[in-house]
Amino acid sequence: MPEDIKSMYEHELKEKFAEMGEPAYRASQVYKWLHSGVKSFDEMTNISKKLRESLMEKYYISNAAIEKKLVSSYDDTRKYLFSFSDGEMVESVLMKYHHGYTSCISTQVGCKMGCTFCATGQSGFSRNLTASEMLSQIQAEQEDNDIRISNIVLMGMGEPLDNFDNVIRFLKLVSSENGMNIGMRHISLSTCGIVPRIYELADMKLQLTLSVSLHAPNDQIRSRTMPVNRKYNISELLKACKYYSDTTSRRISFEYAMIDGVNDSEACAAELAKRLKGILSHVNLIPVNTVSGTGYEKSKKESIRKFIAVLEKSGITATVRRTLGSDINASCGQLRRSVTDGSKKE
Ligand code: SAH
Ligand code: SF4
Repeated sequence: MPEDIKSMYEHELKEKFAEMGEPAYRASQVYKWLHSGVKSFDEMTNISKKLRESLMEKYYISNAAIEKKLVSSYDDTRKYLFSFSDGEMVESVLMKYHHGYTSCISTQVGCKMGCTFCATGQSGFSRNLTASEMLSQIQAEQEDNDIRISNIVLMGMGEPLDNFDNVIRFLKLVSSENGMNIGMRHISLSTCGIVPRIYELADMKLQLTLSVSLHAPNDQIRSRTMPVNRKYNISELLKACKYYSDTTSRRISFEYAMIDGVNDSEACAAELAKRLKGILSHVNLIPVNTVSGTGYEKSKKESIRKFIAVLEKSGITATVRRTLGSDINASCGQLRRSVTDGSKKE
């Protein structure tokens, strides 16, 4: 079985090259090619034919093929459905902000966490993505649009901390000097709250932004919408968050999907404010995207306004997430579901 060469660290590649009797600088040349987005060894024009042939025998270069692309007519946001060599598909979204391009990538095919409002969570889990498959989503978007992506958010399909080793590998590769060189400060990771992994991540001191999908101010509501809360409750989660911000001096973003009549009362806001006291934080309110079959509706504008007012009175900063590409939206997971429904039992 050929190995996945684009998931290798540069030092690992150097070790493999040494075994083949090749100098370290050759490994660096190949590493640079891989991270510039080439899809075949033949594109590596400064590498001899002989070496390219032996690499071809031992390794493969993973690639994300565009299955479908939706372009928003409002703001140029692009949503991609990518497929990998085994036919599995994930979604990714490319957004343009004033400071450059941001790619929102997937880390798993599906998700095990089962959040009741989430299209991905409702579709079950297939497999983890490799580090190279995460890189390939960014590379495919760069190539398709002839751009450089400067920011990454791990907020597509999947729970990044449930695919911890591959995600860490991806983060180190994408930020490496001879790789895409996207600094950790330009990367955000969003989690539903796998507590032991938050501690582990904090101790790595990576300088990336942690987003925590909170979506509820108490265990009663959260356990109903997010099954992970039955394992790690809000107090444990917030303790881990405090540890993260204390250890890294980084502010935590709390995601809060506003669901009409479920978590959007002023009492909920007051409870949330009390809970977040003492944590370096910012709250992102997102009117929930309606996913068919869930029965949830977006909160009314008036409820959102009142919710923010309560938070601000308690000194918690909150913003309503700017919704890009609302015409193509269908929150992550829906595009894949529309393609795989009927053809695949999940
Ligand atoms: N699994 C991770 C990251 C992927 S989900 C996590 O849960 O954080 C990315 C974000 O989209 C999370 O904040 C998630 O809660 C949110 N989300 C999922 N479904 C949504 C929906 N229908 N409307 C609004 N936000 C949603
Ligand atoms: Fe998984 Fe995140 Fe969706 Fe929950 S919200 S099911 S953790 S992708």
